[in-house]
Amino acid sequence: MAPSDESGPPQPTLDRDRATIPCEGCQSILHGDGQPEPSFLLLDQLTVPLLSCDDHLEQFIEICELTSSNTADLLQHRPAGGIRCPGCRLAPQNPSQPMIPVQDGAIAVLACPEHQTELVSRFETGLQTRQDLTTDLGTSSSSSL
Ligand SMILES: [Zn+2]
Ligand SMILES: [Zn+2]
Repeated sequence: MAPSDESGPPQPTLDRDRATIPCEGCQSILHGDGQPEPSFLLLDQLTVPLLSCDDHLEQFIEICELTSSNTADLLQHRPAGGIRCPGCRLAPQNPSQPMIPVQDGAIAVLACPEHQTELVSRFETGLQTRQDLTTDLGTSSSSSL
């Protein structure tokens, strides 16, 4: 009996745009096996489900808050009024949401494309604002907590 021409074991497709996230909390929530419950960001008129670890959720929200005169709220459960946008309501069921890098972690924005874009642009604006604030202070070289 000659060894038949096996095609070999199937190649696991490990890295199809799924880079490892340095933050373990984010990594296990975003790439883990479980079905993590999203948190809900309430900012101005936006209600957006987000997925990340607590630390990075907080950082993300702090930055988004810089773009608003209102305070952002984070709910650990679906808001009482629900999500008004039908696209955002369905978005958590779509597994291929893009991720936004936040420091050494990442956030998945489980929103429709429109609100995703809006939130991402707020985040970018907020980052810029924070950078400007930091630059204004100037003497940050030897500050410690
Ligand atoms: Zn994290
Ligand atoms: Zn939406």
